[in-house]
Amino acid sequence: MTEASGTRLPIHSSTINVTFLGTASAMPSSTRNHSALAVRLGSDVWLFDCGEATQHQVQKSNVKMGKIEKVFITHTHGDHIFGLIPLLAGCLNGAGGNADGMEDPRRNINMDEPPFEIYGPLGTRAYVRSALKYTHTMLSRPYVVHELRFPSDPQTGDYTNLWRPRSESPAGRNIFQVDGVWLDVYKDNVLSVAAAPIYHSVPCIGYTITEASVPGKIDPQKYLPDIKRTKTPLNVMSRLQAGESVQLSDGTVLHGPKPRNGRKLVILGDTYNPSPIIPIAQDADLLVHEATNAHLPGIMPSTKDGDTYEGVQQTAMERGHSTPQMAGAFAKRIGAASLILNHFSARYPGDDDIDPESKVIMDAIGNLAATEFGKPVVCARDLMSVDIGFRLTESSQMDTT
Ligand SMILES: [Zn+2]
Ligand SMILES: [Zn+2]
Repeated sequence: MTEASGTRLPIHSSTINVTFLGTASAMPSSTRNHSALAVRLGSDVWLFDCGEATQHQVQKSNVKMGKIEKVFITHTHGDHIFGLIPLLAGCLNGAGGNADGMEDPRRNINMDEPPFEIYGPLGTRAYVRSALKYTHTMLSRPYVVHELRFPSDPQTGDYTNLWRPRSESPAGRNIFQVDGVWLDVYKDNVLSVAAAPIYHSVPCIGYTITEASVPGKIDPQKYLPDIKRTKTPLNVMSRLQAGESVQLSDGTVLHGPKPRNGRKLVILGDTYNPSPIIPIAQDADLLVHEATNAHLPGIMPSTKDGDTYEGVQQTAMERGHSTPQMAGAFAKRIGAASLILNHFSARYPGDDDIDPESKVIMDAIGNLAATEFGKPVVCARDLMSVDIGFRLTESSQMDTT
């Protein structure tokens, strides 16, 4: 395994934006599409999961298809991956083909171009490869699949006997766990992605995105009297801004502000217990946690007389899922600044911004999580967009639109 690396421009002067493209669990509804969310980091977009019709959701959102450069898959259940091949074809000019004997520029793909990156558990590479082969899909740019291998998985090989298509880069890594987590799944000078297994009915992964520490906020007034008195050129301010200490001509030493922690996002897949990710998830600015099932007596007409919270929780867990209270408790456990719930059962409506009855239901779900978390909790809607700024004091600055 070699560590991925690269350089990118700092993003601390911009918000990190999360757009929920799909917030349904197994069955989509008229108001919720299958799982996918987009994280905008500067000018790049990374997707987390890619359920059926994600490409359509991207078209309806502010996310630009051409900016998507990476997709992280949490697990290979269809509601999280069925949209990957259409998205790949859409991003990499994969539609149709030419009759035999006709020249198709995609036959001469430039493998020196940076590949479209896909990360996921064992089977992701085989799934993409077989889908491309049997749908006769050619791509105009290379892609690569990096697999996060569990200790019980084969540690080498591609997990398929199919040949690599010409568009698949041979640089796909098999990434192994170290001390129960996958560190440096991706890393450059500004962003790093780590991951950990989370408990679900099949192998499932939770991801963390961490921004490198950023320069502290500078208060020029604090330094100006000394700078003026010693007739020091004003451009010394940029060294102070970078956190340096500077000695002036009269011996006075000015200390630049201490760097601030960068932002951290924790994005979980389906789970009834994400505790293995705790070591790398502490103090997240945002936790995205599923809440598939809730007990809402008096609010949901489908609640039966004998239903109890304990019964709902047990059923949810048996299916590999969580209740809002479980999500709230986990957010508190990792000291998250904010929590957004997603992956709702089809019975929970996604039009709570326009339908008062839907709002009552979704507010109630948010409140159940808030009782455990101790802070307000947002229930995601399809195409909801959230900006993650730096923590001001106690909680992260979060603007929801
Ligand atoms: Zn799911
Ligand atoms: Zn699942």
